[in-house]
Amino acid sequence: MKERYDVVVIGAGPAGAVAATRLVKDGFSVIVLEKTAFPRFVIGESLLPKCMDYLEDLDLLDAVRAQNFQVKTGVAFYHDDQVCDFLFDSQYAEGWDYTYQVKRADFDHALILEAEKKGVEVAFKTEVTNVKTSDEEQLVVCVDENGNEHQIKSHFVVDASGYGRVLPRMFNLEKKAESIPRGSVFAHVKDESRSEKASENIFVHAFRDNTAWIWSIPFSDGTASVGVVGDVDFINECDANDSALFKELVQSFPGLEGRFEETTFLFEPKKLLNYSISVKQMHGTGYVLCGNSTEFLDPIFSSGVTLAVASGYEAAGLVRDHLKGEKVDWEQDYVEFLKHGIEVFRSYVNGWYSGHLHTIFFTENGNPEFKKQICSVLAGHVWDESNPFIKKHKTILPTLAKVISIS
Ligand SMILES: Cc1cc2nc3c(=O)[nH]c(=O)nc-3n(C[C@H](O)[C@H](O)[C@H](O)COP(=O)(O)OP(=O)(O)OC[C@H]3O[C@@H](n4cnc5c(N)ncnc54)[C@H](O)[C@@H]3O)c2cc1C
Repeated sequence: MKERYDVVVIGAGPAGAVAATRLVKDGFSVIVLEKTAFPRFVIGESLLPKCMDYLEDLDLLDAVRAQNFQVKTGVAFYHDDQVCDFLFDSQYAEGWDYTYQVKRADFDHALILEAEKKGVEVAFKTEVTNVKTSDEEQLVVCVDENGNEHQIKSHFVVDASGYGRVLPRMFNLEKKAESIPRGSVFAHVKDESRSEKASENIFVHAFRDNTAWIWSIPFSDGTASVGVVGDVDFINECDANDSALFKELVQSFPGLEGRFEETTFLFEPKKLLNYSISVKQMHGTGYVLCGNSTEFLDPIFSSGVTLAVASGYEAAGLVRDHLKGEKVDWEQDYVEFLKHGIEVFRSYVNGWYSGHLHTIFFTENGNPEFKKQICSVLAGHVWDESNPFIKKHKTILPTLAKVISIS
């Protein structure tokens, strides 16, 4: 570890790996400081096709492909006995018609190793404990695995610390989320009896009057990720008594024809509560936040990694401009960009929990053009303003649901 780099990146998740890779490709010296040893578990295993654009642009996609992850071609929503599936080869936007379902331990590890190959320095088991920023230079204090403290100077700091939220906590930037507090219990299970078709989709089933839902994400090694999301009281109920209710819900997973009836849980279910959170600002003197350090909405549409990758990519481009002495309008070029993506997903998350999307998804005789346009949102193309389901995202779902309800 040197005493000085152009940029220090905090966190080696997808946001950090992408930001660091873009910066070294532009000729800057970059160190990523990562608290844990990789591979490490993190939840967030279903990707969206849009994130492939960024990985391809940075030559990171071959490293991902080499992992033989499960190809994901769509998403299927279940409600009672009805099913509504969106297939990415039938969507409005141009672009990838597939992506991957990934064990994040392997995905994140593959990305950061590839970043290292491209010239990023990475210090694992090294926790950032303090950061001081100023107009002149930035000071990052970290502690390595032997307990030794290091002080690293840089021109810029990228906070990609995810759920660690290093700078939001340190600089008092945390802001409460607008949504009601929710949580999740999840695990990996054996998934040996799935059909070939079932291999490619993430399955989501809504229950408890749309206040809760359960997912199954198949992996290529014959295992799957399963999880339940709901309000905090319900999630605590699911988690109680060695996660008895959670296990029961998984074993009787509706719509999956007994796929998990006899399954084995590969680790004790984990619980996460109150993960939705926001920030008062996304950048400041000498630093920028990306990925989950900014805002995390809700897991329902698997937007987390795609927003992490998109924000890491955009942030790095602006850090490059700033370090080259160009004037950067962080509000317009970064905050507005990222907030637009977050706001589009927020409309869909709200549409999910309000029931509007259920009305739209499960109506008979739905409009096939609308379905393609919604499919593009679910594929992550949330910056494509030519799509009316993005341009009018705040009003279109309640309006359409109302029209369907009265017709
Ligand atoms: C229940 C649930 C289900 C989800 N499902 C999906 C899904 O299907 N698809 C999807 O795309 N997203 C999903 N997400 C969201 C996803 O988990 C996150 O959006 C994503 O991991 C964010 O990536 P990141 O790079 O910002 O942060 P992370 O992946 O969290 O990486 C941050 C890294 O920073 C490190 N770090 C933290 N503190 C420090 C420190 N002090 N010093 C050094 N390093 C530090 C951490 O160890 C970590 O490795 C889900 C989230 C939840 C809660």
